[in-house]
Amino acid sequence: MISAMIPKTPLEDWIFSDIAAASEDGGRRTRSCIESYQFQKIRDTLEKVCAASPFYRKRMARVVPADFRSLADISLLPFTTAADIRGDHALQFLCVSQSDVERCVTLQTSGTTGQAKRIFFSREDLERTEAFFHYGMSALVHDGDRVMILLPCDRPDGAGGLLGKALERMGLKSLPYGPLKDVRDAVDVILQRDVTCLVGAPIHVLAIARSGDSAALLRSRLSGVLLTTDYVPRAVVDVLERELNCPVYTHYGMTEMGWGGGVECRARQGCHLREADLYIEIVNPETGFPAPDGVWGEIVVTTLTRVAAPLIRYRTGDISRFLTTDCPCGAVLKRLDHRIYRLENMACLRSGALTGLPLLDEAFFPLPGVMDVQATLTTQLNRDCLAVSLMLVPETDPDRTAQAAVQILMNIPEFRVAVDAGMLTLAPVRCICCSSIPTMQKRCLKRSIIS
Ligand SMILES: [Zn+2]
Repeated sequence: MISAMIPKTPLEDWIFSDIAAASEDGGRRTRSCIESYQFQKIRDTLEKVCAASPFYRKRMARVVPADFRSLADISLLPFTTAADIRGDHALQFLCVSQSDVERCVTLQTSGTTGQAKRIFFSREDLERTEAFFHYGMSALVHDGDRVMILLPCDRPDGAGGLLGKALERMGLKSLPYGPLKDVRDAVDVILQRDVTCLVGAPIHVLAIARSGDSAALLRSRLSGVLLTTDYVPRAVVDVLERELNCPVYTHYGMTEMGWGGGVECRARQGCHLREADLYIEIVNPETGFPAPDGVWGEIVVTTLTRVAAPLIRYRTGDISRFLTTDCPCGAVLKRLDHRIYRLENMACLRSGALTGLPLLDEAFFPLPGVMDVQATLTTQLNRDCLAVSLMLVPETDPDRTAQAAVQILMNIPEFRVAVDAGMLTLAPVRCICCSSIPTMQKRCLKRSIIS
């Protein structure tokens, strides 16, 4: 009954029109049709990189593209890692002359691994991303919507700029605002400019919804919110849907994918993938072997249409799984579970229990006034110490929140068992009221090992 009312993701029409243009039997709309297109594109990409990219010519020295006979054969190809695309080394990925590179993105990632990643795009690559944003956004916006973009918008060929162009070609008004710095100003702009849709980082939209009287001012004014740029805690989605009384959608992507990877349809039950441009695998992060559909593992991406610097089997460091049930919208496009985590945010306690930032997020974001959850795990010999800090919007009572937080922490079974076994110390939860807004940098679990 309900499924008949949910429109199919517009990504499907777009993707099948590309597939139809590239294949002879393009009229059908089946998984096998998508897969035979992807197989041919991977084979074309292999031929291209083996001929034009110095990196892959060396890495694939023993690979004969003609031996690639089915999609399953992709598991025989070597992975590409983040280390491979750092610094000047990244130039080895280019399959075009540097004059054909329209945009080079330098990504200084958090952590201490040194050189920045560099990702190259041609004009065609940027246009593909703009088209993905167009059809992906069509799933959630309505005629007359005005979309506020809380992403960097200083360049026309960055994620925010391309999203603005996509909205423009849909005939919608967009408001390039930039990353959140001042909640009061953002709320004023939403009200004065009749904004009806927000696109931003989860903790930025949360800060808007939880600060002062903004929830009361914005409640029921928005037709939708799209969360992007970092993984999306489900507790944040729940809080936003409740406070703002509007649907909250998840987008998954990273610069290496050309920013866009997959986005939810109106059903909001997982991200439909950009299957004409990307081939996504889930692999066991330890063995590298393919994981069956439905099983959690690392997301690995191969670009299918990238012109400037294609990537073969790029290990994203993100964890998710393919959903095995049909989407209520009826699309045949594959979906990723919208619970997508960073591998580096997970940790195994000395007690053997698996923990990490996602567990803490789901535990603490439901507390009123919490704007950000930060955690440090320190390990010394056979003992861990977990220190949690909660950033609160200024109106929150820090003492009361700290009391509630300690109870929550002690009630997490993995922690209680480890504390009872003398293998874990839980530091007092710090609650800090802060008026400054966290940056857009991806949130991470801090680790330290004392030897
Ligand atoms: Zn759907």
